[in-house]
Amino acid sequence: MRILISNDDGYGAPGIEALACALESLGEVTVVAPGGNRSGASNALSIHGTIGVRQAAPRRFIVDGTPADCVHLAMTGLLEKLPDIVVSGINCGSNLGDDTLYSGTVAAAREGYMFGVDAIAFSQIEPGWAELESAAGIARVLVRAFLDWKKRQEQTQGATLLNVNIPMLPAAEVKGFRTTRLGRREAARPAKCLDRTGDRSLYSLGPAGDPKDAGIGTDFAAVRQGYVTVTPLQVDFTDVTQINPAASWVESVQFTVE
Ligand code: MN
Repeated sequence: MRILISNDDGYGAPGIEALACALESLGEVTVVAPGGNRSGASNALSIHGTIGVRQAAPRRFIVDGTPADCVHLAMTGLLEKLPDIVVSGINCGSNLGDDTLYSGTVAAAREGYMFGVDAIAFSQIEPGWAELESAAGIARVLVRAFLDWKKRQEQTQGATLLNVNIPMLPAAEVKGFRTTRLGRREAARPAKCLDRTGDRSLYSLGPAGDPKDAGIGTDFAAVRQGYVTVTPLQVDFTDVTQINPAASWVESVQFTVE
């Protein structure tokens, strides 16, 4: 069993260290992670320019790039063989609902999935690294159960991409696992203007919006109740409900060059 581990908090972050330790007993672990914190990088790839890589130890690589760069490069250059699974995290903070679009943690997993490899992203719902051992233990339990389930599936089923959020609780207080769908957030909070001098301004972006759809069945609801949430993801953004409404006007647009 070959396990590729990455994250977006960076190679030195406690979360990836704990995850690598926890999964060591399940197979051959390779860590390929960004040199610094690249949270919020989504699936950005450094397609312009070059990417520096430093081998820190056997099967340990520090990449001067994004989380997606790390997994992409591992898949296409660093590893002799594709891994059996890509595991990302454990992230410092939740990745719920719309967060999955921006998250580098989710993106590292999604990049593996793009190569047809099973992938799981793990996040702790509060920053601060409390209960990290508990979270790492939970990650190991879930990865092992996933691999067992996968072994029983037909080879033709294709790859699976899972987004997992872990409550910030001692393992004994976690209620169990729940399969969920993504909730939705309100639009992000306003940006803050920190400084203005002449024609130059300095802004910081506002935080993510509060949960808007956090009802029954969502990741927001279940994790709040103390469950580990497991949300299967896909990468196809097509809104099938809008194909016919769009066709009603798009296909009657007269194409004329003015
Ligand atoms: Mn992060």
